[in-house]
Amino acid sequence: MHSPLGEQLPQLQAEYAAQQAKGLKLDLTRGKPAPEQLSLSDALMELPGLVPHVSDEGFDIRNYGGGEGLIELRRIFGELYGIPPTQLLALANASLQLMHDALMFAYVFGVPGGEKPWGKEEKLKFICPVPGYDRHFAITEALGFELIPVPMHDDGPDADMIAELVANDSAIKGMWIVPTYSNPSGATTSLEVARKLVSMPTAAPDFRIFWDDAYALHPLTENPPASLPILELAAEAGNPDRVFFFASTSKITYAGSGVAFFAASPANLAWLKQRMAVQTIGPDKINQLRHALHLKNPDGVRAHMAKHRDILAPKFAAMDRVLTQRLGDYPEVATWTKPEGGYFISLDVLPGTAARVVELAKGAGVALTPAGSTWPYGKDPNDSNIRLAPSMATVPQVEASADILATCILLAAAKTSGS
Ligand code: PLP
Repeated sequence: MHSPLGEQLPQLQAEYAAQQAKGLKLDLTRGKPAPEQLSLSDALMELPGLVPHVSDEGFDIRNYGGGEGLIELRRIFGELYGIPPTQLLALANASLQLMHDALMFAYVFGVPGGEKPWGKEEKLKFICPVPGYDRHFAITEALGFELIPVPMHDDGPDADMIAELVANDSAIKGMWIVPTYSNPSGATTSLEVARKLVSMPTAAPDFRIFWDDAYALHPLTENPPASLPILELAAEAGNPDRVFFFASTSKITYAGSGVAFFAASPANLAWLKQRMAVQTIGPDKINQLRHALHLKNPDGVRAHMAKHRDILAPKFAAMDRVLTQRLGDYPEVATWTKPEGGYFISLDVLPGTAARVVELAKGAGVALTPAGSTWPYGKDPNDSNIRLAPSMATVPQVEASADILATCILLAAAKTSGS
């Protein structure tokens, strides 16, 4: 057993000063792929055989049109996501933009099954599982939704709490969810929770689940489970229009130069296509063809993701190893998740100390995502959650960062217990 933290304060202060003196510059802020991960797709820069090219559907990919995206690519990803290619659109480069557009379209024009545009409602609310993804929260915050936090558990968001909320409040128009290896806890939504979400009665007739499966194909382990066929589950539950599915190749090929996907029921697809026909004359099919040629088929994607896993898994293991060595004896002061996929670890420190930990870490050269960013409005009421993103750093950098972070966590806690 360890001595009380308050008594360790002088020793922790000396340790922190020694770490500061090293003058390191480390960054665990955002979940970006590391350069060696990006290099796995450098064939995209020089693939032969791109022109002239007529797609399997018979049109010249160099021209306008093909608004649903290249069928060659939709077939590959349809199989991986458990969605018929006819229900999966391959669109622009960023799924976040699609989520933003879908919400804007709902706000301005309404969605199938709704009585009026969302923006014409007196009050708008949106369910936000916490800890969650700051950029999701930012979109709904920008549109004036009231953001309602709901706990994220190991098997997905608290479906019973959500069911109770949405049953009685027609202002709640939708919810965010990252169903697989969520950002930031790494939790994967179970079949049981998914079934509850697609079958629960909702006071709003036009309630939508923004099912952002950004990490569906990003396991850190071998033999991961297949994606939940969420559109099928929604249809089986009698609510085929409830789900908007989003995903992208941002963390498969190039972040920012990949392909984003949207999938939904036939009614929702017709709705989105109608809106998008006003917005664009078609997506970048050349980039889509590059992706189809590079990734080849579903097994090609799986093999490619195994290479990502080989790069990423040691970084996650390093973080866990050092945190366990340094903090394993202090479960009252720090707990963290052990994701089996995705890009993040969710760390909970002694309530009331997260912001101080982030500040201390910065002082010793470790940049962390601001405390509070995993909560709506950037405000964690417990001031305890911190998102860790180990992907960009090298293994030695992850180890050094985790060591400094551990000192900061103990120091912040020792000061609290000593005061
Ligand atoms: N969704 C989640 C849950 C993410 O974590 C991220 C990036 O970190 C994105 C979406 C962004 O995806 P895209 O690059 O397709 O916009």
